[in-house]
Amino acid sequence: MLTIKNYINGALVEPISKKYIDNYNPSTGKVFSLCPDSDEQDVEMAYQAANAAFEQWSNTSAEKRSKIMLRISSLIEKNIEKFAEAETMDQGKPLWLSRNGEIPRAVSNIHFFGTAIEHFASEAHPMGNHAVNYTLRTPIGVVGCISPWNLPLYLFTWKIAPAIASGNCVVAKPSEITPYTAYLLSEICIEAGLPAGVLNIVHGLGAKVGSAITSHVGIKAISFTGGTKTGAEIARVAAPMFKKLSLELGGKNPNIIFADCDFEKMLTETLRSSFLNQGEICLCGSRIFIERPIYEKFKKAFVEKVKVELVVGNPMQADTKVGSIVSKMHFEKILSYIELAKQEGGSVLCGGNAVKLQGEFAEGWYIAPTVIEGLQYNCRTNQEEIFGPVVTITPFDTEEEVLHMANSTEYGLACTIWTENLTRAHRMSFAIRAGIVWINCWLLRDLRTPFGGVKNSGVGREGGWEALRFFTEPKNVCIKI
Ligand code: NAD
Repeated sequence: MLTIKNYINGALVEPISKKYIDNYNPSTGKVFSLCPDSDEQDVEMAYQAANAAFEQWSNTSAEKRSKIMLRISSLIEKNIEKFAEAETMDQGKPLWLSRNGEIPRAVSNIHFFGTAIEHFASEAHPMGNHAVNYTLRTPIGVVGCISPWNLPLYLFTWKIAPAIASGNCVVAKPSEITPYTAYLLSEICIEAGLPAGVLNIVHGLGAKVGSAITSHVGIKAISFTGGTKTGAEIARVAAPMFKKLSLELGGKNPNIIFADCDFEKMLTETLRSSFLNQGEICLCGSRIFIERPIYEKFKKAFVEKVKVELVVGNPMQADTKVGSIVSKMHFEKILSYIELAKQEGGSVLCGGNAVKLQGEFAEGWYIAPTVIEGLQYNCRTNQEEIFGPVVTITPFDTEEEVLHMANSTEYGLACTIWTENLTRAHRMSFAIRAGIVWINCWLLRDLRTPFGGVKNSGVGREGGWEALRFFTEPKNVCIKI
């Protein structure tokens, strides 16, 4: 059985306690590897290594840091098949998605920040001819990066890359539910010659490793992606210690479809925005609002498409569109929300059930893509994050009404709007309370743009200069001429 190791001070090491957690392959429901059950002692060791490496790494030229990062990204690319298989085995997403989406994006993340750092500049503020201010941007020191299980390597590298590019040293924790590709990344970092201590990966539970990182006095900034409740706990611990915080949290995103949209394009994309990665993407549009004149047409076409096209199956199989749910606990949570939807008066138009596969996959965790109608916009099913292959459909009559429903949740991460009316697209984008708006598309990403949410979807922005600014401290120097 595969035994995953921590990556501390440039070496792969066992947790000090020698304890491990079972790590499941969700497609079979069986344990396939052991994940270190690390604790605050391992975090301390990682911190010491990071702190010792900081002086040299922060004084290494951006060009040199960039070269090492580009080596790491090209080594992942060279091993893409190995990474893709590992991600699918660990997370349950279809192999084609790991191969064409998740792992290439991890490669891009490292490449993007590895090159961005060579172009990163700071400002100058001249005061006529009698003084000049310039801003120095220096790395923070040792920073913590904590990531979730839904896009494991993609989100892990999205944090680590800007942190190390800007000269920090990192203590990082991937989700204990999906540790495999972070482990493969540590092997690649060794091969690429990343100096010892620059990146340290400590595997284990959130309540032990995560909280040890958050509460460590020497770790000055925390970049976290995960659930809103966990984010609140991290803020509670880190705020009185005056740590810099970037929190990317949950969502309950609206997908707003007007009658004048390009119907076929919208339909194809709505299938993706509803069910890609089993609906386990924080950006998925789980509340679909349809303008009444096309409600019946949409409902018929969408449900038909879900039934015909979305094959639920073994994620390694090429024609599988919906793989397995990441864990038994999450599988049960999603099913309990489907039950709740029924209690709240919803009608299940398709799906609504667990799917049992044959043979070695019989114990895997699968749920049929589910479409529900007939719910009030403010019921729990339409307000709470389910984070699975479950969407609701709701008709609307006016812009005001749909804006009210769309903005009614505690979340404000992303929104998708389908309309051919340019003026309305701008008007709606302005009024919607979300950090990200897609018009006539979904998940079209440019890594330079600010990424993050409002309300309980988070604090701060990732991506582009925003991330490099987060991981550096500005210092103003004023010189009198
Ligand atoms: P989670 O909050 O349970 O866990 C996320 C990470 O935090 C894991 O590594 C976990 O071990 C760690 N953790 C748990 N308790 C901790 C604590 N007390 N202190 C420090 N760390 C702790 O989230 P999850 O179930 O892994 O991920 C799903 C959630 O992530 C969903 O809510 C989803 O919307 C959100 N998400 C948000 C974004 C975004 O960009 N906004 C992206 C992906 C996922």
